[in-house]
Amino acid sequence: MADRSSHGATWSAHHARVRAVANALSESTGPVRLRKRTSNLFRPRAELKRTELDVTHLNHVIDVDSGAGVAEVEGMTTYVDLVDATLPHGFAPAIVPELKSITVGGAVTGLGIESSAFRYGLVHDTVRELDVLVADGRVLTCSPDRESDLFFGFPNSYGSLGYATRVRVDLIPVQPWVRLEHTRYRDPDALFEAMAAECGQPGCDYLDGVYFAPDDWVLTRAYLVESLPAGIEASDYTWMRQYWKSLRERGEDYLSIHDYLWRWDTDWFWCSKNIGAHLKPVRLLLGRKRLSSITYQKIMRASRRFPLSLLQHVRPRTESVIQDVDIPIANAAAFLADFEAEIGIRPVWICPFVVPDGRFSLFELRTDTAYINFGFWDLVRSRQPDGHYNARVEALVARHGGKKSLYSSSTYDEETFWSEYNQKAYQELKQKCDPEGRFPGLYEKAVGQG
Ligand SMILES: Cc1cc2nc3c(=O)[nH]c(=O)nc-3n(C[C@H](O)[C@H](O)[C@H](O)COP(=O)(O)OP(=O)(O)OC[C@H]3O[C@@H](n4cnc5c(N)ncnc54)[C@H](O)[C@@H]3O)c2cc1C
Repeated sequence: MADRSSHGATWSAHHARVRAVANALSESTGPVRLRKRTSNLFRPRAELKRTELDVTHLNHVIDVDSGAGVAEVEGMTTYVDLVDATLPHGFAPAIVPELKSITVGGAVTGLGIESSAFRYGLVHDTVRELDVLVADGRVLTCSPDRESDLFFGFPNSYGSLGYATRVRVDLIPVQPWVRLEHTRYRDPDALFEAMAAECGQPGCDYLDGVYFAPDDWVLTRAYLVESLPAGIEASDYTWMRQYWKSLRERGEDYLSIHDYLWRWDTDWFWCSKNIGAHLKPVRLLLGRKRLSSITYQKIMRASRRFPLSLLQHVRPRTESVIQDVDIPIANAAAFLADFEAEIGIRPVWICPFVVPDGRFSLFELRTDTAYINFGFWDLVRSRQPDGHYNARVEALVARHGGKKSLYSSSTYDEETFWSEYNQKAYQELKQKCDPEGRFPGLYEKAVGQG
């Protein structure tokens, strides 16, 4: 474990918390799973008998070093807490995934993205070092120079190799306000050309977009600004108004940096409509605080626990298609045309990203192109066996040379899965970190219900 004695009590307390979890792991036997307060996993998990490792206390921001441009963070710290700790210093994590309850460790092991990814890459591209608790209770400090196989193999391992207990993340300087410029496009080629032109370049500070219909796309460039222009007030989308609707209603907008970073959280992008939270009386009733991904998660979990939920009676014959997929930018327009024809979910979130480093072994991407992350999360009417549309998404991603995130349903057979996600590298890491299989394997987790 890294020696941080100069920071005294804070680091000692951190080490004590990690030791407690490591001891609990060493002293237990058999299969293990994490116990934590929140989760953004969208695949069902079997109720297997496993030791629950309580990591809820590993949720502290240990240090914000604005001079070095890094924060030292415990693995189960949510991004909302991390942002609250960094903004007073005039900094934000280089990538802040959109949902407040996503944790730093979860985003590194499960891949994370946001509108600054066109400049910095995915969350793991902005991590300098991490400590990983492996199955025998050791904590391995990993960086590009130390335990580099685990450093580069941890992203997309979904806790199947070990748990991140500390992460050193890159910070970027920010300003108090953000000016947003929304540009409408009718032609996807023009939109993706505009996105490609921004990738890796100085210019705007944040970049993302939304597909509303084949001839209706919005690209949003966002710029950090020190102050609001005279006579202009910042918008507020944290209660009665919805951010995603504003994209087609105005060309320019201003938000505080805090509200910009969480602009998608209040309505879970647009998915709040699935529980009626787009309706004014429901919004009034819920109030600002409860309009958040944390509330929606709780509702989703409860609806899983009560399988005869109202939703399933009202909407029989549907398949839940909740996916994020990454497609090389040259194929992005063709992918979305096929997606529209075969799946048809709208809106779709569009987020470009670059790949600064091609060494991440379990999620190999090309470094000679930017990618587009397409996020779509909805129910599809279906007369097909369950899994049909998710399998179609997988086929589409393969056809267009992309990669699929594994936080949600996957239908791959084992051979196809491992041809996508590097079986050899995974097996070597599994042997090193968890030879007795105390953590579920990656295929078992992603496709089974581990
Ligand atoms: C609807 C939806 C939209 C999403 N949109 C985005 C998005 O826009 N941007 C984005 O970046 N991501 C997005 N995600 C994906 C999300 O970042 C990943 O699912 C991430 O893994 C969730 O992190 P979590 O902290 O909530 O982890 P959990 O959901 O609790 O766990 C995810 C997995 O990671 C493992 N895990 C958790 N913590 C650790 C740790 N410290 N060390 C090792 N393993 C750990 C768990 O065992 C589990 O297998 C989205 C997910 C959903 C469901």
